[in-house]
Amino acid sequence: MKHSMEYDVAIIGGGPGGCATALALRQQGISKILVIESSRYETIRIGESIPPDTRLLLRKLGILEDFLKENHESCFGSCSCWGDDRLGYNDFLRNPYGNGWHLDRRRFNAFLAKKAMESGMELHCGTRVTDCDRITPGGFQLQLMGEDKQKQTITTRFLVDATGTRASFAQSMGARKVFVDQLICAIAFFELPPGSHFSKLTILEAVEYGWWYVAKLPNNKLAAVVASESSILKETGLKRINNWLTYLKETKYIYQELVDCCALENFSVSSASQVKAPESMVCAAPSFRLDRASGNGWLAVGDAASAFDPISSQGIYKALWDALKAAKAIASYLDADSRSLEEYESLIASRFANYLTQRNYFYQMERRWPTAPFWQRRHERTGWDSSLDDMAV
Ligand SMILES: Cc1cc2nc3c(=O)[nH]c(=O)nc-3n(C[C@H](O)[C@H](O)[C@H](O)COP(=O)(O)OP(=O)(O)OC[C@H]3O[C@@H](n4cnc5c(N)ncnc54)[C@H](O)[C@@H]3O)c2cc1C
Repeated sequence: MKHSMEYDVAIIGGGPGGCATALALRQQGISKILVIESSRYETIRIGESIPPDTRLLLRKLGILEDFLKENHESCFGSCSCWGDDRLGYNDFLRNPYGNGWHLDRRRFNAFLAKKAMESGMELHCGTRVTDCDRITPGGFQLQLMGEDKQKQTITTRFLVDATGTRASFAQSMGARKVFVDQLICAIAFFELPPGSHFSKLTILEAVEYGWWYVAKLPNNKLAAVVASESSILKETGLKRINNWLTYLKETKYIYQELVDCCALENFSVSSASQVKAPESMVCAAPSFRLDRASGNGWLAVGDAASAFDPISSQGIYKALWDALKAAKAIASYLDADSRSLEEYESLIASRFANYLTQRNYFYQMERRWPTAPFWQRRHERTGWDSSLDDMAV
């Protein structure tokens, strides 16, 4: 058999949360770590801006120098039309940690996976967990299946759910998502004309039915995103690219940034006036926290434990932060300190409470459309909302 079949920790999901947890576990002296990732790091990933202080976490993970060599686009802050018709600036000029970044997410995810493998973790890409059972005296037995349909059985003393907003393992252990919000984003990609330059700021604009942002991607590409609610996307037809472009043209600032650009579908060019793609790319952007982010022999990290509104641009930072805290908790747990998971749990809960305060403050700042359903609901919904549930998009 090529791989060892017994692990100290198995991590389901090889995104930023999963790979950073593997790196942090290696720093804690845990050696037999397996990451199970269903993709092959080839698909487009949304979520690109990271704040300057992410460098502190990358340093703690021991990968800052190599990250800097990856030369991701610098991000100098954001400018927003929010609560006012004029643009306001929040730049990183005076930030003690310097600039942030607009990541090439595919490359960043693959970089984290590579660094974790170099540190000794095993990675099974294109692999799914088909079955999971508890074993005595502790731990889990997992059935894995690769793309070639080959099956493999492994055992692990501890399991980490890093499956992103699916939180599939945690939910199978009985954890429940408690929602604060459930936004849906409709995304389209653009290409800058040759020789043109785009601001290194993320640009944000509130509109009556939600908000837009545009951010630079590698290779002269831009991602433009409108965030709203499922019912509003249906009413407005915003999922269809032609309607999406009509609404884009009504924005005050976002359209100005894109006016000379070419619309793309999955990065293949089509003319802006005659877009071939019938649909924009749609994804859910929920705000939730698990009612419990850990249990006997397992915990959840990153978006699996708690997901933030994309307006915060904190998702990747949060995933790396969780990873460092989770690794300490797991190492102590495997050393027979059962209280360490409770401590991890309370860190996740208090961090979510802080996020909620910031999120509410931000949405309360926008008062230009007092009767618009999108804004009314954001102003009313400042805590858990039991009417919200997982949403298929
Ligand atoms: C529209 C939008 C914009 C965003 N913008 C930003 C931003 O600007 N900045 C920012 O920091 N964050 C942003 N985010 C959030 C950010 O993308 C996430 O917070 C971040 O990716 C979380 O990392 P993660 O590792 O927890 O989860 P993910 O990145 O979702 O990784 C989970 C991994 O698990 C794998 N997986 C899932 N299920 C299984 C399974 N059963 N078996 C094996 N593998 C599995 C997936 O393939 C994936 O690789 C944005 C999100 C959205 C929706």
